[in-house]
Amino acid sequence: MRLSRYFLPTLKETPTEAQIVSHRLMLRAGMIRQHAAGIYNWLPLGTRVLQNIIQVVREEQNAAGAQEIIMPTIQSGDLWKESGRYDDYGPEMLRIKDRHERDMLYGPTHEEVVTDIFRNNIKSYRDLPKNLYQINWKFRDEVRPRFGLMRGREFLMKDAYSFDLDYERSKHAYNQMFVAYLRTFARLGLKAIPMKADSGPIGGDLSHEFIVLADTGESAVFCHKALLEKPAPQNVDYDADLQPIIDDWTSLYAATDDKHDAAMAEKLGGDLVSARGIEVGHIFHFGKKYSDPMKASVIGSDGNPVTVMMGSYGIGVSRLVGAIIEASHDEHGIVWPDSVAPFDVGLINLKSGDAACDTACKQIYDALRVKNRDVLYDDRDDRAGVKFADMDLIGLPWQVIVGPKGVAKGVVELKRRATGAKEEMSFEAAVAKLTVL
Ligand code: ATP
Ligand code: MG
Repeated sequence: MRLSRYFLPTLKETPTEAQIVSHRLMLRAGMIRQHAAGIYNWLPLGTRVLQNIIQVVREEQNAAGAQEIIMPTIQSGDLWKESGRYDDYGPEMLRIKDRHERDMLYGPTHEEVVTDIFRNNIKSYRDLPKNLYQINWKFRDEVRPRFGLMRGREFLMKDAYSFDLDYERSKHAYNQMFVAYLRTFARLGLKAIPMKADSGPIGGDLSHEFIVLADTGESAVFCHKALLEKPAPQNVDYDADLQPIIDDWTSLYAATDDKHDAAMAEKLGGDLVSARGIEVGHIFHFGKKYSDPMKASVIGSDGNPVTVMMGSYGIGVSRLVGAIIEASHDEHGIVWPDSVAPFDVGLINLKSGDAACDTACKQIYDALRVKNRDVLYDDRDDRAGVKFADMDLIGLPWQVIVGPKGVAKGVVELKRRATGAKEEMSFEAAVAKLTVL
């Protein structure tokens, strides 16, 4: 992509409405623009990052055996009257009347809709287990939308729902999601700590939140420092018993401040980390909370109906964009982890219009494209300082800097954004290095 043609409205000034660094950087890097309070437009650069995160989330959900569906964002209020939540949910739910005066709503979550799909289509214990997920927009009319995408009103969520015959099997579905979450957040370059949680208004008896540590997080958290160093599980067989992995992770102390225990703090001493965190995921096992009132049952092996056990599993996909930036930036801008970067490489032409520089850039660009590298080519007729600043701001993992002096010697400069380390090398060596990544 040529930057001269790309829609990338970067800002030099820090927008005053943004209180936290991720929000400021997303606005400055031309990723998003606010439409209304807590509602955002995603511009091309932001859209690419969001798509990359979606892809990682999707791959890990699929690997864990969940199946992707798409449910409507606009739901019928009748289902919520059946589950009993229509009146309970309160003002966070955006309620809409259609032209026939029917109660509709913009879905804040999808337990009712997915339970309705289940009960209308799945009839036998032989069809279990099932785990259905979607990646879709939610609307919650939050009292205080703030911090950009962190607490939006419209936001993108991955929400999965599991259906099983009994507690043991639904616990296995819960464990599958637990492990998938550890893997997902690690692939996104994040350290996410699982924390035992209240199951809140959704109800139930087993729940964990996944918290990314960042100074601007909304919750205070305390945990054993070994949790921060633990690598995510590799080569997982999702059919095997996952309980040992869960026990291994949950045996280490982790708590939010409301549940933090002073005696524990004393016991852990120097091993205790106290920090702030951002909730990026939340998993619940809630048994028959919806399947009971909504009559979601299957015929069991003995011919009698069995009400199914359910769980729901959310990831704040759009919130993750902010969380990743909170966890990975410096004074110059964003530092994208390779897995979510909007482009792999930023190619900077220090003298656009100079025949030798233009030819060298074109050659490098084409060579990288052939190898499927995504390249943003800064071909603008602008000062070097502006190009360096913009490229650092948008945080692509690698920069290839092409200037007249280097080109005369047959070399370019390769810069790693995260460390700032620069190395001079031939065009071919630069291309080779960037294609083996
Ligand atoms: P919170 O405690 O932050 O309000 P929640 O418990 O209401 O979140 P869940 O219903 O568990 O959220 O939703 C699953 C995930 O969706 C959360 O872990 C979070 O990452 C994300 N999320 C929830 N509300 C918002 C929001 N207003 N804006 C962006 N992401 C959100
Ligand atoms: Mg929560």
